[in-house]
Amino acid sequence: MKAVVFHGSGDVRVSELPEPEPGAGEVLLAVEGCGVCGTDVHIYRGEAPARTGVVLGHEFGGRILAVGEGVSREALGRRVAVNPNLNCGYCPSCREGNIHLCLNLRALGVDLPGGFAEKAVVPALQVELFPEDLPSETITLVEPLACALHGLDLAGVRPGDDVLVQGAGPMGLILVQLARLAGAAKVAVADPSPARRARALACGADEALRPEELAPGYGVVIEATGNRSALEQALVLTKGGGTVLLFGVHPREDVASFSPQAFYRREIRLVGSFTNPHTTARAVALLSSRRLIMDSVMGATISLDDVPACLAGLRYDTGTGKTVVLAR
Ligand SMILES: [Zn+2]
Ligand SMILES: [Zn+2]
Repeated sequence: MKAVVFHGSGDVRVSELPEPEPGAGEVLLAVEGCGVCGTDVHIYRGEAPARTGVVLGHEFGGRILAVGEGVSREALGRRVAVNPNLNCGYCPSCREGNIHLCLNLRALGVDLPGGFAEKAVVPALQVELFPEDLPSETITLVEPLACALHGLDLAGVRPGDDVLVQGAGPMGLILVQLARLAGAAKVAVADPSPARRARALACGADEALRPEELAPGYGVVIEATGNRSALEQALVLTKGGGTVLLFGVHPREDVASFSPQAFYRREIRLVGSFTNPHTTARAVALLSSRRLIMDSVMGATISLDDVPACLAGLRYDTGTGKTVVLAR
């Protein structure tokens, strides 16, 4: 089978690999689609770790072709989305229910073979049934949407809140829509790119501004840029008693600066959000409801052969719309 293999930073190749076989508790999928994530770009650049020799891609789904020992044959032929984050189940974090903070956390497409391939083996416990009547592109949105749902839960957006989303990449565009569904009175978006601001408006944002046009007073600010200066600005833009959600993935060595006194005196809450604990089923339910405008979130559709050039930034703009790899 064809697969996209990580050989080290700056070195990702399309290779022919033997078809994997499902072991005990695993299923073999015919991959329908796999989204290109900012994390994949970070891995390509050496800014985020991944195991050498791994098949990349963690936002995927497909149809079950075979089942390993202990998995019901009723699973055969089912269409499923994959939660790529595997927790150990026995460490203190897992026992407290914080499965995403597992001390032995591993992820498909990072530590174990992922979805930029024609076929993939995944643990049966990691799949979620996916409706037959939604397009292949949509199955790739389950994982990012599940992450956004966890973030929105932590941000605690209430009906009537004024919300600002910094960054109108694919995640920002999803977060705008979730903030609206949660009842925000107004959702503003900040992004330097006119193309991305236009997408934000198409996704239901009430206003889309350049970062330098922003004025303080938001009850909730969602930082979805991975940019240190945006985070520093978020703390200033949040009103007293408000919440800053740190959702963007920042480079490991980055350090932000802010006034501790302003934090204290104005009772700002700063909350981090990491991955998708317990939100995959809700993501599928929400996509099934068709209450999200996904057309404006989607970007280019590419093939497995295109992935190395895409990750290298040579072709396709992964920051404007979600790039999806269809394994055909
Ligand atoms: Zn991702
Ligand atoms: Zn654990």
